[in-house]
Amino acid sequence: MIPRSVYNQEHDMFRDAVRKFMQREVAPYHDEWEKQGHISREAWKKAGDAGILCTHLPEEYGGSNVDFRYSAIAIEEQGYVFASGPGFSLHSDIVAPYILHYGSEQQKQHWLPKMAAGDVITAIAMTEPGAGSDLAGVRTTAIKDGDDYIINGSKTFITNGQLADLVIVVAKTDSSAGAKGVSLFLVEGDRAGFQRGQNLDKVGMKAQDTSELFFDNVRVPQTNLLGQENAGFIYLMQELPQERLSVAIIAAAAARACYDATLDYVKERKAFGKPIAALQNTRFKLAEILTELEVTQTYVDRCLELHCQGQLSVEAAASVKLWATEAQCRIIDECVQLHGGYGYMWEYPVARAYADARVQRIYAGTSEIMKEIISRSL
Ligand SMILES: Cc1cc2nc3c(=O)[nH]c(=O)nc-3n(C[C@H](O)[C@H](O)[C@H](O)COP(=O)(O)OP(=O)(O)OC[C@H]3O[C@@H](n4cnc5c(N)ncnc54)[C@H](O)[C@@H]3O)c2cc1C
Repeated sequence: MIPRSVYNQEHDMFRDAVRKFMQREVAPYHDEWEKQGHISREAWKKAGDAGILCTHLPEEYGGSNVDFRYSAIAIEEQGYVFASGPGFSLHSDIVAPYILHYGSEQQKQHWLPKMAAGDVITAIAMTEPGAGSDLAGVRTTAIKDGDDYIINGSKTFITNGQLADLVIVVAKTDSSAGAKGVSLFLVEGDRAGFQRGQNLDKVGMKAQDTSELFFDNVRVPQTNLLGQENAGFIYLMQELPQERLSVAIIAAAAARACYDATLDYVKERKAFGKPIAALQNTRFKLAEILTELEVTQTYVDRCLELHCQGQLSVEAAASVKLWATEAQCRIIDECVQLHGGYGYMWEYPVARAYADARVQRIYAGTSEIMKEIISRSL
C-alpha cells in the first residue's frame, strides 16, 4: 500500500485509541444492535467519554479543537470493523458544525458540550417524502406566531431519527421564495406535536436507526431558529461538502476492510485442490481491486488535505463522493464474488458491507446530483 502522508504521529496515536474503542465497544455489540435496529445509548456515552465525538469543537464547547483528520480517523476505524450502525459521524461532523457555525452563543453553550459528551444524540432532517434531491422543494413550514414559530410537515429517512434528542429541521419560512425561503430550526425531541414514525426497515445499515418524523403544530421559540431566517439554504450549501467528504472517507475504509477480509478468505478457501488465491482470475481481480483502492484512497486523502486547508471546493467534494462511493460498490461487489455463496450470507462481513454500501450512492446527494454539481462548473 502507498504510505499515507495525510496523517502525522499524533493522528496515529489517536487512531490507536479509536481502533481499540471500536474493537472493544462497537464490534462485539454490532450483531445485537442490528437485531434491535439501533445502537445503545450507552455506546454513545462511551464514545463521548472516549473523546471520539465532535473532536473538532473548540475546547470551551467540549471538543479537542483538532482538525478534520481526527474525524476522518474515527470514520475510518468504524469502517474497518464493518460497523455501519453508529451514526457518530452524522452527529459530530454534520450536525455539530451547523450549530458551531451558525448557532447563537446560547445555543452553542447549551448543546455542543452535551453532544461532545454523548449525552445528547442529534439528527438533521432535510429529506421529505416528496423532496430529497430537490431540497428547495421541501414543504415543511415554520410560520411565525408572536415570539414563536409553529412547525408543520413531515420528514423521512432521518438517520439517528429514533434516538435523537435534538433535530435540525429544514423548513420553509417563506413558501413563495423557493431556496431563499428556507430556514433551519433546532427542535428538541420532547416538543409537543413532534412524533417519530417507525424505525424504517432498510436493505442494509441495520444497526442504524432511520426514521420518519412528523411535526404537528410544533411550537418552538424564536431562539430555536439557527442562524438567520431564510438563510438556511446557503448554510446547507456551505456544510454539504464536509458531509460528502465524510461519505467518501467511509467508502474508502469500507472497501479496504472488504479487500482485507477477501484476501484472507481466498487464501483459506480451496477449489480444485488448491487455494482459490492461486487461481489467476483471483489474483488478477485482487490486483484490480487493490489498484482501485489505492487510487480512491489517494484521491480521498488529497481532498481531506484540501478540506483541512479550507480549500475543498463544492465540485471537488461532489467529485470525491461520486468516485469513492461508486468505487466502493464496484470493489465490494467483486469481494462478494470472490467469496462465492458465502459472500451472500449475512454472517460474512462482506455480505453486510455489500448491503451497507448501496445507500452511499444515494444519501448526501445521489451520484446523479453529484454529476450535476460537477458539470455546472465546466
Ligand atoms: C439510509 C438513509 C439515510 C438517510 N439519512 C438522511 C438524513 O439523516 N437526513 C436527511 O435529510 N436525509 C437522509 N436521507 C435521504 C437522502 O439524502 C435522500 O434519499 C437522497 O438525497 C435522494 O432523495 P430521494 O430519496 O427523494 O430521491 P429523488 O430525489 O426522488 O431521486 C430519485 C432518482 O432521481 C434522480 N434525480 C433526481 N433529481 C435529478 C436531477 N436533477 N438530475 C438527474 N437525476 C436526478 C436521483 O439521482 C435518483 O436516482 C437518507 C436516506 C437513506 C436511504
